[in-house]
Amino acid sequence: MKVPILDLKPAYDELRAELDAAYHRVMESGWVLLGKELEAFEAEYAASVGVGHCIGVANGLEAMQLVLMAIGVGPGDEVIVPSHGYIATWLAVTHVGARPVPCEPDPLTYNLDPARLAALITLRTKAILPIHLYGQTANIAAITTIAARHDIFVLEDAAQSHGARSYGRQAGALGDAAGVSFYPSKNLGALADAGAVTTNDPELADKLRHLRNYGSKVRYHNEYLGLNSRLSELQAAFLRAKLPHLAAWNSRRVVLAARYLEQLHGVGDLTLPHVPDWAEPVWHLFVVRTAHRDALLAHLAAHGIGAGIHYPIPPHLSNAYAPAGWKRGDFPLAERYANEVLSLPIGPHHTAEQIDFVCETVREFFRKK
Ligand SMILES: *Cc1c(COP(=O)(O)O)cnc(C)c1O
Repeated sequence: MKVPILDLKPAYDELRAELDAAYHRVMESGWVLLGKELEAFEAEYAASVGVGHCIGVANGLEAMQLVLMAIGVGPGDEVIVPSHGYIATWLAVTHVGARPVPCEPDPLTYNLDPARLAALITLRTKAILPIHLYGQTANIAAITTIAARHDIFVLEDAAQSHGARSYGRQAGALGDAAGVSFYPSKNLGALADAGAVTTNDPELADKLRHLRNYGSKVRYHNEYLGLNSRLSELQAAFLRAKLPHLAAWNSRRVVLAARYLEQLHGVGDLTLPHVPDWAEPVWHLFVVRTAHRDALLAHLAAHGIGAGIHYPIPPHLSNAYAPAGWKRGDFPLAERYANEVLSLPIGPHHTAEQIDFVCETVREFFRKK
């Protein structure tokens, strides 16, 4: 049995009629950018998240960068980001000229630890950028309480959390704005790069509609110094075809995650994911932790199982951030998790038999130790 970490073909097999129809609709329309498909997707996605506005952009990184541009974050400003997470979140801050200020994770959930926030806030702090990592919302209730006290903007990184909930409210509707990615591997994925911003703020939404299109809404009338960051008609049409299936696909992930949690309980030194009672994760990734991570990864690979590491190098130790001067030991939790986390395969098209095979292969690894 082979268990790939990601395979896009079964999704096409399931939605062939809808995706083919989407393709033909766009080809027949003769219109490929900033048209009816994008407008319709923006309305449908905003409604599904429960926000007033969705602005389609080229990818998740630029979604966050554009929000920071729109609210005027720039040189001399600081934005608090998770020390444990994906580098794109940091890059959005760096690309507007501001400084990422890393915050260590809560050891149970790996999400930004609100208890450490107060110590990091300065007069320069303009925004907090929590990631809803692995498909589970950060402790946004605690984060927004602290942010409100200091009048700081909360920008969610909702790239891994389409449909996830905190106290019943959806990721993407929990802060002042959210950056979303529709990279093909995400829970809601396009068939190329794509992204969006969600927000309830109509002025911010209007500014973002300019900023994604060279700063103009009326051609050749440029109000701001914008980017070229647009979500194409074709990708919007594909996303419209997939969006109605997101909830069912997330439910399948929830069922498989429960299977993992049951079968891997008490196995070896594995730390399993922790779900607070207010959180409803959508299991973008199923991440376990072990001191024997690299050997387990090799064992799984030898048995045809595609596992992953999210992520092997914390951003502060990446070569890209070397000029910022961080060093080993600066963020010990992030550094430790980078050495210990392992993502087991989970997706709407994995079968229960595949998950059982992964669990048996993991148990076999620890039996032999
Ligand atoms: C995928 C991802 C991004 C970046 O999204 P792109 O669309 O690839 O630019 C940012 N943050 C997190 C947490 C992600 O998983």
